[in-house]
Amino acid sequence: RAKAEARGAFRFFEPEMDARIQAKRLLERDLRDALAAGAFNVHYQPIYDLATERVCGFEALLRWFHPVRGPVSPAEFIPLAEEIGLIVPLGEWVLRRACEEASRWPADLKIAVNVSAVQFTSASLVTAVRETLRATGLSGHRLELEITESVLVGNPGATTAILHSLKGLGVRVSMDDFGTGYSSLSYLRSFPFDKIKIDQSFVRHLGEPDGTDFIVRAVIGLGGSLGMTVTAEGVETDAQLARLRAEGCDEVQGYLFSRPVPASDVAGVLERWNGTERAIA
Ligand code: C2E
Ligand code: MG
Ligand code: MG
Ligand code: MG
Repeated sequence: RAKAEARGAFRFFEPEMDARIQAKRLLERDLRDALAAGAFNVHYQPIYDLATERVCGFEALLRWFHPVRGPVSPAEFIPLAEEIGLIVPLGEWVLRRACEEASRWPADLKIAVNVSAVQFTSASLVTAVRETLRATGLSGHRLELEITESVLVGNPGATTAILHSLKGLGVRVSMDDFGTGYSSLSYLRSFPFDKIKIDQSFVRHLGEPDGTDFIVRAVIGLGGSLGMTVTAEGVETDAQLARLRAEGCDEVQGYLFSRPVPASDVAGVLERWNGTERAIA
């Protein structure tokens, strides 16, 4: 009877509900079902090393194909998954899938996996990483976790402890989307990151009049002096690549090299970029 009442109450308020709230509620319901239904997939985007002129790894990017809406952007559903408490199982699923797949690739390739702030500071992260490495046989040195600056805001003590535990497993940690969040240069000094990823919003305006060259140059200098690898994201043009090369950027990633591809296309990407001595730009 309570259930019937609740349903009645829902019907009563329903016409007054904001259509956007309803749409979000439906999306949340579908998101809950999607993991069980196998509706998620992982795509891989190559990361290109400018010193060796080779693809040195791939970033795992989650894909959700909604039965009605088609592909939904992770920028839309990751925050929802965080809100409804689904991010930890979903994140662990991505980690497992990506490490399984990467364990079949040539051993010099790394795999980068995005970890949301909520997942990073959850009690189970380090255990999940250790267990995933054990189960997949992937060496910890081949795994990179990408976190954003928001992780650093909450509890710096806990974050430092987690970073050190991950390092104990040989796992590297990257600062993703650098320059877009609550950036503070002191974060870079206090937390032992291995890599800085320059956000694509800075790469996009490279070489333009009043562009972002000075920011990119500063971040590359900063990363270099802190002993961190610097990767530029969202590289789409030869001109951007040439600028990044000239500034001494270590690695690049973007549509210029490849869009994120399904696991079955990884070999093709490797053949294209590493298979032959190919000079680029
Ligand atoms: P991100 O980690 O910064 O990933 C880079 C995003 O830029 C990806 O978008 C990628 O497809 C896109 N991208 C790569 N090259 C280019 C380019 O040349 N031009 C442009 N315009 N875009 C490019 P995507 O796959 O839509 O992912 C968006 C964000 O969603 C990611 O940003 C990441 O923050 C989050 N995300 C994706 N997968 C996962 C995941 O498994 N777990 C978590 N927690 N977050 C994820
Ligand atoms: Mg990333
Ligand atoms: Mg990024
Ligand atoms: Mg980077």
